[in-house]
Amino acid sequence: MSNSNLECINEYIESHYQGGLIGISILVDFCQQPMWKIYSAIKTLESQGKVKIVTRYFCPESHPIPNDNVPFCPACDLRYSEVDIVTIVYINPIVNQQVNYSK
Ligand SMILES: [Zn+2]
Repeated sequence: MSNSNLECINEYIESHYQGGLIGISILVDFCQQPMWKIYSAIKTLESQGKVKIVTRYFCPESHPIPNDNVPFCPACDLRYSEVDIVTIVYINPIVNQQVNYSK
């Protein structure tokens, strides 16, 4: 795997990150790479301890579903088919382990 995706994600974190979670689709747009390549890169970053991958699930009505409840949506009081559940992957950068270049 080329390092360019890793560099691109690091660049995004260093120049744009303002706290919270980063949606993988933002990285896909920023790096202009297909989802699977970005996903592969963030798996590498996770194995290096630089980010934590967070997966969130939503029902077709866009309600967030607690991970333990999938595919049952408490807000709808309905059990959905797994294929109807929307999965969104985020990364949580572990910023306090990064070198601070500004000093
Ligand atoms: Zn729902």
